[in-house]
Amino acid sequence: MMVRAPRIRSDSLADLFVMTSATRSRTLVVDVEPLILDWSEPDAVFPSRAMAFVDLVDTESPSIHRIVFASNSHRILPPVADRHAGRVTVVTKAGKPWRLDHVAGLPRPVTVIGDQPGTDGVLAWRLGGRFHQWVHRGAQPWWPRLQLLLSAAFAPLIFRPLTRGVG
Ligand SMILES: [Mg+2]
Repeated sequence: MMVRAPRIRSDSLADLFVMTSATRSRTLVVDVEPLILDWSEPDAVFPSRAMAFVDLVDTESPSIHRIVFASNSHRILPPVADRHAGRVTVVTKAGKPWRLDHVAGLPRPVTVIGDQPGTDGVLAWRLGGRFHQWVHRGAQPWWPRLQLLLSAAFAPLIFRPLTRGVG
């Protein structure tokens, strides 16, 4: 019997932090688009946004020691500031959900937040972690919308719903 990964679907980071705090998640994998950058935004915006996100995580969910910003895109993202060196990793061409090398050695439990069950969600499932499916309220290019539609068929097989952060 396959173990399904706990999943919440929400457009609120407060829900993310309820989940990461309840489970004392130690690693958080963050999908860059759209959590940090909108699809159309330039790479140069990334460091300040990422740092603000790290600061928010530190305030709201201090159990998290490692943060991985992971994008399957070919963006060239500038590094984040030195004060986060060693805690924060930025990975592009991340190969979600297939590649595990950039997350394999990181402390568990792991939570993954992202908009795509087929990439972010399956990665969470492979890591035995939890998945916050980010519900994006703004405009989206056609390819993430198509990905979302396609994932609806298999998502119930690998995720089980959580209405709260625990369970
Ligand atoms: Mg995404």
